Amino acid sequence: MIHGVTKSDEVMTTDTCIAGAGPHGLAAALHLKQVNPSADITVIDHSDQWLATWNRQFKYSEIATLRSPIVHHPSPHPYALTDFVKSRELSRSGLPYDPPTTEAFTAFCAEIIADSTLSPPIAATLESLRSNHQGLELETSSGTLRAQNLIIATNPHQRVIPQWTWSLIGRQPGLVDHALDVNLPDLSDLSGQKIAIIGGGLTAAHLARNAATKGAAVKMIARRPLQIRDFDTEPGWLGPKYLTKYLAESDERLRIQAAREARGGGSIPGWMRDHLEEPTGEGRIEILESTEVVSAQVTSPRGCMLELNNGETVHSDRVWLATGTQNSIQSMRCLHSVLDDIPVIDGFPLVDQSLRLGPHPIFIMGRSATFALGPAAGNLWGARHAAHRITAAITGIELAPDGYGNSFRKHDSA
Ligand SMILES: Cc1cc2nc3c(=O)[nH]c(=O)nc-3n(C[C@H](O)[C@H](O)[C@H](O)COP(=O)(O)OP(=O)(O)OC[C@H]3O[C@@H](n4cnc5c(N)ncnc54)[C@H](O)[C@@H]3O)c2cc1C
Repeated sequence: MIHGVTKSDEVMTTDTCIAGAGPHGLAAALHLKQVNPSADITVIDHSDQWLATWNRQFKYSEIATLRSPIVHHPSPHPYALTDFVKSRELSRSGLPYDPPTTEAFTAFCAEIIADSTLSPPIAATLESLRSNHQGLELETSSGTLRAQNLIIATNPHQRVIPQWTWSLIGRQPGLVDHALDVNLPDLSDLSGQKIAIIGGGLTAAHLARNAATKGAAVKMIARRPLQIRDFDTEPGWLGPKYLTKYLAESDERLRIQAAREARGGGSIPGWMRDHLEEPTGEGRIEILESTEVVSAQVTSPRGCMLELNNGETVHSDRVWLATGTQNSIQSMRCLHSVLDDIPVIDGFPLVDQSLRLGPHPIFIMGRSATFALGPAAGNLWGARHAAHRITAAITGIELAPDGYGNSFRKHDSA
């Protein structure tokens, strides 16, 4: 049996393996358990904890509230988090559209995990797989696993690293970091430090505001004027308003292009713009809109000089890249043996409506499911919708929209 991180020769079997124990993997596991509480599920992740990556991102960037409304979370029951917050008398964020606080979301996830019969994830990395179209043999860092089905919830992506940073990378510790690596709790006092934050989205804004609170002088450098939007994807994409036309588009490239355009670049909600007003008014944050860095050079004894497209220069002690990530299913080398059978456009596999990868009993979630679910596939909304469809495909039982009882058997289960 595979356990912990020790590689074992014994082969373990399971009905469904879920790779990735983030919000998407958790949603899949909870939906399968909702249909069949004794479902045989094995979850593997780099970490032996649920939501390790999610929790780390929120802790590192010191994010106090989610961006999405309270009905979006991994449970099959849309109002479960609302009921949880009410019953525990937890404080609400008080922000427009009622996004939950990070604290409430974390406590809620801990409770739904504890209430389920789910085991903790096995700390293992999915390394390669063989599919005979009916079943799978999965090679992991802790041993071999035979599974009837595999759900990929690993959020495969590549960080967007601008080319001008190449002259800075590896030159001084902490000089340039991607936003995902900036550990704000470790940087308790930033007084006297000049920090350039590249990007104009919510991550850039969180980092700017929190670094300014710790005493830094921040320059946010955004290549466009700041985009003020309540959500990262317009709500029309969560229902028929835009999805009907999207799904009717027969040209796959145009469909993917529409999804990319719908997400656009980064944006910030109005409440965050309001939160930036005070530190910008006091000069602790300067926002350089419609501005791009064209080159950078290390300065002595520390820091760097950034040259901007308007001819000005900015001296910084640190550069944080809030430049986002790009979905890339090809970055999952373990899938290479099956990806030959699947068309992929711009890193997005062309999956069917059950999110199945071609003829293989492999299902995908997260941004990788964009072709079938649209531009919000990577968000918590996408987690529930993908979990719903994959559960129906695996079990033949489709849950009702409220996630309770009332499930019915599909005519043609996959
Ligand atoms: C800072 C931040 C805030 C966000 N806030 C919101 C929000 O408020 N609302 C919203 O809807 N969305 C939000 N998102 C977007 C999205 O919901 C998150 O990115 C979310 O973490 C995606 O969940 P996931 O399960 O797909 O991926 P992850 O949370 O990244 O989990 C994937 C897991 O897979 C594991 N893994 C990777 N490769 C392997 C492998 N080969 N084998 C085994 N395990 C592997 C990783 O260890 C990881 O734990 C936010 C994103 C960020 C970065």
